[in-house]
Amino acid sequence: MSHISRPELGAWPALGYVASPLDRAAHARAEALGRVSEPAARFYLLGGELVALKGEGPVHDPLFDHAAAAPWGKADPLFLGLEDGAPRFAVPFDPGRREELEAAGLKVADLRSIAVGGLVEPRHLPPIACGKALNAWHGRHGFCANCGNASRIVESGWRRDCLSCGAQHFPRTDPVVIMLTARGDTCLMGRQPHFPPGMWSCLAGFVEPGETVEEAVRRETLEEAGITTGRVTYRASQPWPFPMSLMIGCLAEATSADIAVDRTELEDARWFHRDEAALMLARTHPDGLFVPPPMAIAHHLIRAFVEGFHA
Ligand SMILES: [Zn+2]
Repeated sequence: MSHISRPELGAWPALGYVASPLDRAAHARAEALGRVSEPAARFYLLGGELVALKGEGPVHDPLFDHAAAAPWGKADPLFLGLEDGAPRFAVPFDPGRREELEAAGLKVADLRSIAVGGLVEPRHLPPIACGKALNAWHGRHGFCANCGNASRIVESGWRRDCLSCGAQHFPRTDPVVIMLTARGDTCLMGRQPHFPPGMWSCLAGFVEPGETVEEAVRRETLEEAGITTGRVTYRASQPWPFPMSLMIGCLAEATSADIAVDRTELEDARWFHRDEAALMLARTHPDGLFVPPPMAIAHHLIRAFVEGFHA
């Protein structure tokens, strides 16, 4: 498709879930729950995949005061940090109460829709992502991994202590490599079975114990697409709270050309010319093919390739 002129892609897009306005203020965690009633304290309402927002749109305010947030809480607030000295918390709610929240005039949506649809100001996405990941971790770690007995939340959400053996457990984040592998003027993209029709993206996979980022990039690219890679360079990272990952974005240089798709991981994988990738970024591809939205790191990596960056 090299005969097609490249579309104007405009300014480089900002990644979602990055550049938090909050000071994480680890020193304030132990005493933070004593500050929930301060006049300037504000609360995000989070329930599993869902976030509750104030009803007025199209850009909604996701911050509630204590009186408005507290009745929906199913557990103690989780301390997210300080914004201009004022505490910010996540209040976990039961997602089964969605209809009640909506009946009370609130807008309830899943975080992906909020981020992609611009339903809140971008500055709210990092603290919401943090709260969502933290809440998801607590939801799965009620019992001690060391002895199996119940644990309790301490440090306003930033640690769990076992009530029986005393072991301390800290919220985890799972490292995932996501990479765009290039061979000359072409790049390798794949389709996972759950992708919407027409969407292609970077390959990705979890980093395993004992592995470097570069090794994980090379292993995943070989496993999923049968392509060997040489040089790997880091480009950017993005918190990805589904449920609690860190996407480590890399560019890689292919040293082979023949693709062998692992059908247990991918529906398909193929090479795309730089000009075709540009049309997919701009969503003007003649066959309706496209890549993830500008807020996603996959978009950022594909844009980097189109702009001439390489490993
Ligand atoms: Zn224990």
